Amino acid sequence: MKVAVVNKVGQNLDIEERGTPEPGANEVVLRQDLTGICYRDILTRDGFFPRLHTPIVPGHEVSGIIEKVGSGVEYFQVGDRVTSLIYVPCGHCYNCVSGNENLCTNKKTLGENIDGAYSKYVRLNQRSLVKVPKEVTSELAAISACVTGMLVNALKRVGGITEGSRVVITGAGGGVGTHAIQIAKAFGAEVTAVTSSQWKVDSLYKLGADHVISSEGEFNKKVKEIWADGANISLENTGDATFNEAFRSLGFGGKMVVVGNLKPSSPPLQLGVLILKGNTISGNISSTRKDIMDALEMSAKKKIKVVVSEEISIDQINEAYERIKEKKNVGRVFIKF
Ligand SMILES: [Zn+2]
Ligand SMILES: [Zn+2]
Repeated sequence: MKVAVVNKVGQNLDIEERGTPEPGANEVVLRQDLTGICYRDILTRDGFFPRLHTPIVPGHEVSGIIEKVGSGVEYFQVGDRVTSLIYVPCGHCYNCVSGNENLCTNKKTLGENIDGAYSKYVRLNQRSLVKVPKEVTSELAAISACVTGMLVNALKRVGGITEGSRVVITGAGGGVGTHAIQIAKAFGAEVTAVTSSQWKVDSLYKLGADHVISSEGEFNKKVKEIWADGANISLENTGDATFNEAFRSLGFGGKMVVVGNLKPSSPPLQLGVLILKGNTISGNISSTRKDIMDALEMSAKKKIKVVVSEEISIDQINEAYERIKEKKNVGRVFIKF
């Protein structure tokens, strides 16, 4: 089978030929039709994840049918349709046993510490697996850990979204943002989507955004024109480019949930505003199995539709990375096998 490999940080991925993997103890081998490309994969290649060891197969947006089962695997069998956490949790640390396995102190991340999903066949630990209902498409299954499950985590568990919440979403045209609009709407929120690409505005309204702001710079005043009291939640997908505007869009007691950092940097923060308005800033990383199950249920009930930007073959991976970096996509790019 063909696999894409990061052999050296900062360099293009190499396409290599490898044999089909065999499952070890507590592992399964999955056959995938497709896998998603995440901005994190690009940041990994570019050297922003210090725990990365090379060579590594990137990718963590998994979807497929179990083809082989190793010793010690319980509850999963050949033929089961599954998706996977983007990491293998230890199952024993304090965060794991308290239902916050996304914060596991011993986790091993796909595409970073262990080989990931950029191949037709993938080896996975049973502790990472979640069964996929038949109503859910392969694309929605693939993004249920890193995109839709992560967003359930960010908006619900961290952001405390409720019916009628006023939610600002930055980077709204990207792979995360396009699904964030739909999930926030499914929770009954009123959504203002912010994009730097004017040509994406119509698509964002079609996805359910109540308001769309096209801006390459300031937008907090426009948010305040829409909502005099500001936003309850700012979902920050971009990082430095929008961080302060997203923060200043918040009203009193508002929460900012930071899930993206496209050009890793440290934006300044107005501490006076943070204190006087009683705002909260939280980070959020990936999802738990419960978040994935919740996202799969929303997907099965057709509350979320996948936004596919394009499908590529694995040989086109390096060109696809360039297009994603240049924001030429609306939605997710998938590799088809
Ligand atoms: Zn991802
Ligand atoms: Zn753990």
